[in-house]
This record gives sequence, C-alpha cells and structure tokens, in this order.
Amino acid sequence: MPYLLAAEADKIQDFIFRSSRLREVVGASQLLTRFCRSIEDTLAKQYNGQVVVNDGGSFRVIFDDVRQAIDFGNDLSELYRLTLGGSLTVAEPVEMNDDFADANKNAAERLRWGKNRRQGVMVEVHMPYVAFCESCGVGLAERRDRLAVRNASRHRYLCATCQIKAKERDRGLREFLGAVYDAYAKKAEIPAHIKPDWPEDADAIAELDLSGRNYVAYLVADGNGMGQLFGSCDQHQLQQLSQGLSRVLSESLAVPMIAFRKQVPAQAAMIPMLPLILGGDDLFALIPAPYALDIARRFCLEWEKCMQMLVNKIGLHNVPRPTIAAAVVICKGTYPYTLAHRRAKALLEDAKRQSKLLAAKTGEHLSAVNFEVILGNRLAGINEADGDQVIQRSLRPYWVAENDLSVGALQHGIDLRHLLAQRYALKDL
Ligand SMILES: [Zn+2]
Repeated sequence: MPYLLAAEADKIQDFIFRSSRLREVVGASQLLTRFCRSIEDTLAKQYNGQVVVNDGGSFRVIFDDVRQAIDFGNDLSELYRLTLGGSLTVAEPVEMNDDFADANKNAAERLRWGKNRRQGVMVEVHMPYVAFCESCGVGLAERRDRLAVRNASRHRYLCATCQIKAKERDRGLREFLGAVYDAYAKKAEIPAHIKPDWPEDADAIAELDLSGRNYVAYLVADGNGMGQLFGSCDQHQLQQLSQGLSRVLSESLAVPMIAFRKQVPAQAAMIPMLPLILGGDDLFALIPAPYALDIARRFCLEWEKCMQMLVNKIGLHNVPRPTIAAAVVICKGTYPYTLAHRRAKALLEDAKRQSKLLAAKTGEHLSAVNFEVILGNRLAGINEADGDQVIQRSLRPYWVAENDLSVGALQHGIDLRHLLAQRYALKDL
C-alpha cells in the first residue's frame, strides 16, 4: 500500500521578510527554492520516495512503506531547521488507494491539523552581553562584518541566518530567477557582450523614475481559483502543474519588462525589476514606477495565455478560464517593503473579490488589477479607514482584457486600458 506524505514550511513569509535589505530577501527566496528542489535527489532518493510536489516550501512525496515515510518526514524537518533555521510541519502519512486526488485532500487536511496543533516550546538563547543582528533585529549577531555591497564602509553586526541569505544572493540568482532571466535575455535581444544583472536594492529601481522623485512600485499577484485547479488534478497532473506554475509566472513577468526596456533603455546592464517571492502562483516583485500599471496589465494577459496553454497541455478539462489578480503599490524607494507588501495584499483581496463576484453573477472570468499610490512616507490605507465616507473616489479594481468587455463586466468595473489611455491624454496638462 503506497503512502502520501505532505509537508510544508511554517511562516515562510516571516523567514523571507525578516531581513531588512532586499539582497537578503532575494537570497532567502533562493535558499528556499534550492532547498525544495534538492530534496528530490537527496533525501527522497535515500528513502525511495517519489516526489510529486517540491516547490515554494511545500512537499508531497509518495512512499511504498509507512516507516520510510515517517523517517523521511523526521529527516526533512531536521534538515530544514539546520539549513534555514526555521520549522517545517510534517503531516502523518495517509494511505493512498487508486484515487490520488482523494489522498491528497486527506493529506492536506492532516497538514492543517498539524499546523494548528501547538508545537513544543522552543528555547531561545539568552545572553545579555551579545549584540543583535542589525539586519533582522531578531537573531543574535554572530560576527561583525563589512557587507559585500557597494559603498558599505562601516562594519555591521549580523546573525548567522542573515549572513547565509546575503551569501546566497552573491551566488547569483540562477536557481531562483533563472527562468525569468532566460526568458528576458532571449526576448530582449541583449547584445552578447552585456551580461545583465539584477538590481542590488530599491534605489537602483528608483533611478528609473523618470520624474526624478525616486518612486518604485511593488507588484503582487495570485492566480484565481487555484485551489479548485489543484483539487481536480491526479498525481501526474499535479506534478506537471506544480512544475509548470513557476515557469508560467517567470515568463509572464519577463514579457512586460522587455516592453519597458524598449521605452526606458537607460540601464542596459540592469534588469529593471527584482522578484522577491516567486513560487507556485504567488508573486511579489519590485518593478519601476513608470508604466507600473501597464506592466501589471501585460503581465496578467501573458499569464492568462501561458496558463491556458499549461492547463491544455496537462489535460485539465472542465476548469474555468485561468485568470489572475494583481495589485500594484507605488511608493518611495525608501518605503519599507514589508509595509508595501501588506498593503498590496489587502488590495489584491479586493481584486480577487471583484473577479469572484463577476464569475458568480455572469459566469464570466476576467483578471483584475488594483493599485494605490502612497505619497511621501505616509501610512497606507488611512483613507479607507474613514467610516462615514459617502463619495466613492475610486473606480478600482480594473479589469484586464485583450478585447472589449461584455456588458456584464462593464457593470462591475472598468477596463484598465481606458484608465491608461485617459492618463496618457492628460499627461501634459
Ligand atoms: Zn539577522
């Protein structure tokens, strides 16, 4: 009797966002990607496991023997703790009959149960005479070091995890962002002697603000109805879907950036964006503020197209047309990325709700984009907090569609293209 084991890293976002500098954030994302992918050839092989999913901190592995499944789970969580310094929840293995989808559902339930159960008490090291890490402020500093970045003149206290993250960034971001890089380099027709590199931090992207006010934009996106899509997969399909999702996301992100490069060719050697989280259907990326909404629009259209191709290829029928929700937060380059992310996630929920509403009322499926501009360093979302607001000042979220919208869709929102066209018409006033 085969067994299915589900495991998932806890508080992934916490782990990635704990460091204050973007180079450590991308380093953390790459570390996680590399850890997940390496399991197939190492631990899974050792215990004769067949890997179905190993992406974005999530695992589904099939074993012939329950003992091997349990041993694998124990080793996996220990290895995760040693490598990334975090915890990983392993569910009890479930028996698998012919119906994989059923077993997968059971495994996911047990995983949720495992996550909710109170874990054992963790001991924190307490030493009154040591310094805390200057990047995350949580870990105990392990050494005082000069950072390997431009104009890093002073020494800083750093904890072990932040050092590993920074070192990971210095390896290059091949494992984490290779697919975006390849798609970008191929289609942008970059001359062979130029080796484009990822920006070091938000300042590099802020320089692309044509108005000189140092604004940047953060893009978050999340596929609609992904739970339903995953739920209707058999084992083989789930494997293909899990592997295909990141690639679809990577390629969809590269396409609008090529158009941007043609508009703003100033920085030939720098890729004008920096994805911070890119796993499964979940995206968080730093992009330039000019054309940010158009970038989001093109990204959505490209994702719909690539995703439809993937769905057709793996033979998933009777699923709705794939659509995605996206949100853009435009803010100063110095604005904390964690706050921008939190705000963007809230805006994303609005976009998702609008798409869901449309599907429920008309049966039509459309992608939607929401956005907000945070002026100066003001706190986001304060306007919305006013309880007695009578006039609705915004028409957000906006629809994304290649062709003209149906009457039903127009009753629920406006085409993002119209906003961009109107803004263009008014730009010189
Ligand atoms: Zn640290």
